[in-house]
Amino acid sequence: MFESLSEKLESAFKSLKGEGRINELNVANTIKDIRRALVDADVNYKIAKEFTDRVKDKATGEKVINAISPGQLMVKIVKDELTELMGGEAEPFNTSGTPAVILIAGLQGSGKTTFSGKLANYLKTQKNKKPLLVAADIYRPAAIDQLKVLGEQVKVDVYSDPENKNAVDIAQKAIAFAKENGKNVVIIDTAGRLAVDEAMMTEVANIKQAVNPNEILFVVDSMTGQDAVNTAAAFNERLDFSGVVLTKLDGDTRGGAALSIKYTVNKPIKFISNGEKMDALDIFYPERLAQRILGMGDITSLVERAQAQFDEEEAKKLEKKIRKNQFDFEDFMQQIQQIKKMGNMKDLLGMIPGVGKQIKDLDIRDDAFKGIEAMIQSMTPQERSNPDLIDQSRKQRIAKGSGKKMEEVNAFLKQFDQMKQMMKMMNKMPMGMGKSLFGR
Ligand code: GDP
Repeated sequence: MFESLSEKLESAFKSLKGEGRINELNVANTIKDIRRALVDADVNYKIAKEFTDRVKDKATGEKVINAISPGQLMVKIVKDELTELMGGEAEPFNTSGTPAVILIAGLQGSGKTTFSGKLANYLKTQKNKKPLLVAADIYRPAAIDQLKVLGEQVKVDVYSDPENKNAVDIAQKAIAFAKENGKNVVIIDTAGRLAVDEAMMTEVANIKQAVNPNEILFVVDSMTGQDAVNTAAAFNERLDFSGVVLTKLDGDTRGGAALSIKYTVNKPIKFISNGEKMDALDIFYPERLAQRILGMGDITSLVERAQAQFDEEEAKKLEKKIRKNQFDFEDFMQQIQQIKKMGNMKDLLGMIPGVGKQIKDLDIRDDAFKGIEAMIQSMTPQERSNPDLIDQSRKQRIAKGSGKKMEEVNAFLKQFDQMKQMMKMMNKMPMGMGKSLFGR
């Protein structure tokens, strides 16, 4: 995410390395480099200039405490300012009311329909809501089908009425349907056009007036940079939306949209979307993104993703097995499945401080575990639950079944063994110590 910006900022801070303290003179180059990095990331010049003026004021006014270097101080100031620029605190998302109504607007192709599906999935699985998806695009029958497919995927009902050519009427009927059927959040996916156009704006504005939504979310493709910001301004003028959804942050986006939208329309970014899978959705936290941009990682989000996937009961069972030294290949396989559910591998690794930068050029494919899974799948149930059974001839069979070389099977079995040894050691630690290693 925003790799080029991260790199340029890092090199901007480098020029302060070795300096004893920050003064007008030595900070000038750093400031210029930061400004250039922002402009290159497609942040408009005025915003970049104001940003660096603030950073400069703070940096030169700051007493350099002995313990931290000017470089570190600068990183801290830039982190705080980036956080502010993107909105400061995370903003709440309003789903009160029976039903709550969420209106989704944006240009065609921005990711509206995909986001609608993700939001329904999020509200259902994380917030215990009963959502209803509404297809209010009266121009493209394909859009209705797309929403239906997503609805099926996330197991959320989709309201549609292909014969009805009045989007306002569809929205109102959908809300009535929701009330009758015990749905408490209605997500209305509206029609988009390729460019901002009067008819589209009027239609969405009419729906807004008729249904009085709790939230109007403007969805925008972050890859479009300054255009995204301009489109946001146009939509905001007509709709006075309550929040922005930035999509396609998994792509090669430079960062301009994320950094300038809040400043330009004074509306918070509420969600970020980073992939085509239905769980590739995050609540937007300005500080966490600022940290990621500065290579500080984002452990908080990583932990949250883990919590969302890992089942407390399962975790307890697993811990018990580890304590009894009964951890087997079946458990291992389950763990792999859970990690895979947390999202794209490269994205996950990028959340670990310092790792993002190092792996940016690596081609980390999501099938990183494929080989291991194939080996485990080639084992018999007995072998999986009793790894000690696996002798030479069984290894040969596993290698053949999984299409792996003998060395690879050997290496994997050895690693598994070492892992078990480590678990054993942890079990022998004094009470408390081993426990804390399990994170509880
Ligand atoms: P709509 O016309 O605004 O409803 O846009 P769609 O939801 O149909 O999305 C347009 C295209 O972008 C589709 O191919 C989606 O799969 C893709 N897309 C949507 N969100 C994301 C995202 O966060 N990341 C990536 N990589 N692709 C996305």
